[in-house]
Amino acid sequence: MTKKIAAGNWKMNGLVSDLSDILDIDRQIEGLECTTVICLPATLLYASDGDPRQRVEIGGQYCHPAASGAHTGDISAPMLADAGATWCITGHSERRTDRNETDADVRAQTEAVWAAGMTAILCIGETLAQREAGETLAVLTAQLAGSLPEGATADNTVLAYEPVWAIGTGKVASPEQVAEVHDALRAQVGADMSLLYGGSVKAANAAEIFALANVNGGLVGGASLKAADFVPIVQALA
Ligand code: 13P
Repeated sequence: MTKKIAAGNWKMNGLVSDLSDILDIDRQIEGLECTTVICLPATLLYASDGDPRQRVEIGGQYCHPAASGAHTGDISAPMLADAGATWCITGHSERRTDRNETDADVRAQTEAVWAAGMTAILCIGETLAQREAGETLAVLTAQLAGSLPEGATADNTVLAYEPVWAIGTGKVASPEQVAEVHDALRAQVGADMSLLYGGSVKAANAAEIFALANVNGGLVGGASLKAADFVPIVQALA
């Protein structure tokens, strides 16, 4: 059975004082039937660990493939888990672009996430140029083949489709575009793995996207930072 998952990605945003929004989200989603995750900057993970949360689960946004070592400025999956994370994003397009992460890097990071006992939210997505060239499905298939490790299951991995051109741009993919991709991904990963859509999801468009057959939730950036924006998205899913 696929799980419904509302995931937020705070990216490089948030100070300790902003963690009160997670407690607000936690209170306001009581009784809703879906898994809710917020992926925090590493500095906030430990700070949020002792908070009286009952529903919101916490994740990291990246991890180094090694468990420890001489990698200044990096963070490992066991460190994230030690600080309270049970989820970790891998392969976000911002890291594929900003940090030149390759499919092989993403695969190794995803394996590290599993080894630390966490669930990976593995991201794939095409650029606007690739979409306009008619390469969307081929690009996604290649990213999936290169970055999804052997041994991926519905328990250790969630797949997020995030068209690069829809991230932070206000341009949400149309329901037809999302459905075409998610139907193709469903055929590739089997019946059980949850498939999330990400890219300018907000309260106003969430219900239409979540109603699609092979969309099991969302990965939300900007609209996950404030309880007032994120809670209606969780409500649209549950
Ligand atoms: P936005 O919701 O801000 O477009 O970000 C999407 C995203 O990249 C989530 O990982």
